[in-house]
Amino acid sequence: MGKTLYEKVFDRHTVRKLPSGQYQLFMGLHLIHEVTSPQAFSMLEERGLSVMFPERTFATVDHIIPTTSQLRPFQDTLAEQMMHALESNTKKHGIRFFSPEAEEQGIVHVVGPERGLTQPGMTICCGDSHTATHGAFGALAFGIGTSQVRDVLATQCLAMDKLKVRRIEINGKLRPGVYAKDVTLYIIQRLGVQGGVGYAYEYAGEVFDDMTMEERMTVCNMAIEGGARCGYIQPDATTFDYLKGREASPQGDAWQRAVDDWTSLRSDPDAHYDDVVVYKAEEIEPVVTWGITPAQSTSVGSKVPTLEQFTEDERPGVQEAYNYMSFAPGQSIAGIKVDVAFIGSCTNGRLSDIEEVARLVERSGLKVKEGVRAIVVPGSHRVKKEALEHGFDKILTAAGFEFREPGCSMCLAMNPDKLKGSELSASSSNRNFKGRQGSSTGRTLLMSPAMVAAAAIRGEIADAREVFDIK
Ligand code: SF4
Repeated sequence: MGKTLYEKVFDRHTVRKLPSGQYQLFMGLHLIHEVTSPQAFSMLEERGLSVMFPERTFATVDHIIPTTSQLRPFQDTLAEQMMHALESNTKKHGIRFFSPEAEEQGIVHVVGPERGLTQPGMTICCGDSHTATHGAFGALAFGIGTSQVRDVLATQCLAMDKLKVRRIEINGKLRPGVYAKDVTLYIIQRLGVQGGVGYAYEYAGEVFDDMTMEERMTVCNMAIEGGARCGYIQPDATTFDYLKGREASPQGDAWQRAVDDWTSLRSDPDAHYDDVVVYKAEEIEPVVTWGITPAQSTSVGSKVPTLEQFTEDERPGVQEAYNYMSFAPGQSIAGIKVDVAFIGSCTNGRLSDIEEVARLVERSGLKVKEGVRAIVVPGSHRVKKEALEHGFDKILTAAGFEFREPGCSMCLAMNPDKLKGSELSASSSNRNFKGRQGSSTGRTLLMSPAMVAAAAIRGEIADAREVFDIK
């Protein structure tokens, strides 16, 4: 019987089976940032250990960095301390640091791919939940905790269970105005936030074949929100075109050898899957979350579901969501007033996201509604530079958006970009948990960047297809 890409890559990287039943897995690439690495480096020092493979370790700063100005020292003394710790740890251990001063910094899951560090067939880890993003290239990419960051720094290995594999197949063509974000939110809505526990998700079918790499990253980024340990898309010509010529990609004769090898990693036609689900592209509409998990969502033309639509077990969580969001069951999603519109994050802060919004805004001539705080935060300095070269910043600022410096910003609000009180945010990020955007009573509705732009312009949740006349 054939093998899935997951099995092939897992087997290649297995050092040995551990007495616990887990596997010792070698990590090809370790990405680090300022939040989960300082403690790991301290633990390393306490044991007198050094970094085993500094050349496989790359650092950036993203969570705490201000987006109004990156000038040092940061006003927030804790942020400055974290930045200082990262600078000194990377210097001491000979780790490449993509710094703001060199204009190389960005969100860890944006910087890795854009530099060609993320490649098919790799095992990748990072002390950040959304490491699954890198699976877009046919890599196995895992978010890890601080003690695991220590372990990988010291040994370049992780102890891992072998996962089951669920193939999620979506065939057909997406309708105009339906984006990769809608696809990934739709999958989570259908399978639930726990549905992927114990699984790697293999996304397959015409919809994913048709996607650009940036769209594939949006999908894989949120695999973790569906409970999956990782998610991946098989490498193909789109993957190779994206990687060719990037600074860390194989060069010269090594390029074709790499492409041949990456191609061989695709799941075999007779591979066994532990589960298969199949959806139709035409069923997917623009999705908006109404609750406090990414699965609590509905299409923009629908209503907040009623309690009767859920099982007895689900009802307490649904009631909690109604209470927190101050939404009534049966209330229309369209028309809910927004205070803040946030376009950015490792889910939707890439050039194509900014380009799409700039294109829609410019074509429509519409402006952000008075009273709405609308910010666009590029995922990296490279994204910012390319956006500026195309004039997207000018288009967006002329329409009333703020165009900021790169970072995680209001996705997690570990920097000064926070909601105030119970403000409601239309957000292109990936989590709508209670208090996620920096206020313990702040409310987040997840959606695509185009839908965020539509909300910014109308001052309320609206169907981007109607606002921007997308046909
Ligand atoms: S953008 Fe959000 S999810 Fe992504 S790395 Fe930053 S804080 Fe984490």
